[in-house]
Amino acid sequence: MHLARFGRVSLGHFPTPLEKMDNLTKALGGPQLWIKRDDCTGLATGGNKTRKLEYLVADAIDKGADTLVTQGATQSNHVSQTAAAARKVGMKCFALLEHRVTNQGDQYAQTGNVLFDDLLKCEYEFRPEGLDMNAEGQAHADQLKEKGLKPYFIPGGGSNPIGALGYANAASELVYQADQMGLRIDKLVHATGSAGTQAGLIEGFHAMSTPIPIVGISVRAPKEKQIDNVHKLACAAADLIGARGDLAQGQVEAFDEYVGPGYGQPTDEMVDAISILAAEEGIFLDPVYSGKGMAGLIGLIQKGYFNEDENVVFLHTGGSAGLFAYEHLFSRQQQAAE
Ligand SMILES: *Cc1c(COP(=O)(O)O)cnc(C)c1O
Repeated sequence: MHLARFGRVSLGHFPTPLEKMDNLTKALGGPQLWIKRDDCTGLATGGNKTRKLEYLVADAIDKGADTLVTQGATQSNHVSQTAAAARKVGMKCFALLEHRVTNQGDQYAQTGNVLFDDLLKCEYEFRPEGLDMNAEGQAHADQLKEKGLKPYFIPGGGSNPIGALGYANAASELVYQADQMGLRIDKLVHATGSAGTQAGLIEGFHAMSTPIPIVGISVRAPKEKQIDNVHKLACAAADLIGARGDLAQGQVEAFDEYVGPGYGQPTDEMVDAISILAAEEGIFLDPVYSGKGMAGLIGLIQKGYFNEDENVVFLHTGGSAGLFAYEHLFSRQQQAAE
């Protein structure tokens, strides 16, 4: 695996820190918990999309684009990260926002990431729930082309083989970091959605012959579908990288018990997970992804999934801007007034 063969623009601060969570480890009674701070990538409010965008934006520049077009749910971290990336490289950004979550109050479609989209001069339009959003986004890009722009379409979550390169690279960054620290990583846990993060990590570990098991906590799709999506994308990324050897579907693990009622819909376990990480470690998660990912980690600990002496790394994928769209779940003042 030699990723410098691929174009990459610098958008973030790397390597992100890998830190021990002593307080949380103590509070939960083991295993040994670590955190990889990809919420600290440094682009706007940071998050996992920065790594994918470093490769995607390089490809856009290579293809002569002047405009990034993408799509996501209303509170998409990917959209605001793409908008910030566009500012940095002097491109325009257009986004389609899907009304995928409609029951979280009047401010939901204006605050959090949408507020940042405004500040980043992202031109967005809303779409009703349930459309093929990548097809909508591609059609929007085609319209911009007719108007004389040079659009580059980035699929939802930046999850295609080029975007996945960002997490193949993160896999090698993490292994190098752990080796420097003398840390044996037994498992890596993170929230999985559009699959690019998990697929890139799996492919990166595979290409390095470093079989660290990854546990994806689905935020939307049922287990089998998520595993299939991750596996397909990991194989496509392997083809792009030119990695040898089959990547078996059995190497992909995901759980769907922590989705709750649906994408972006709160669960008690998510609220507890966000609260405990803030209280024990002073770290903010988000309600849609990393909060459910942490709820999954805590749930699996309680089920005895890990041994006490195992080192488990939680990949913090970012997203805390989304907390403001869910204030009612966390605001003591609002709860006192109810
Ligand atoms: C997009 C996102 C994820 C999921 O990553 P995928 O590559 O889409 O699976 C996890 N956490 C946060 C905060 C995200 O924005």
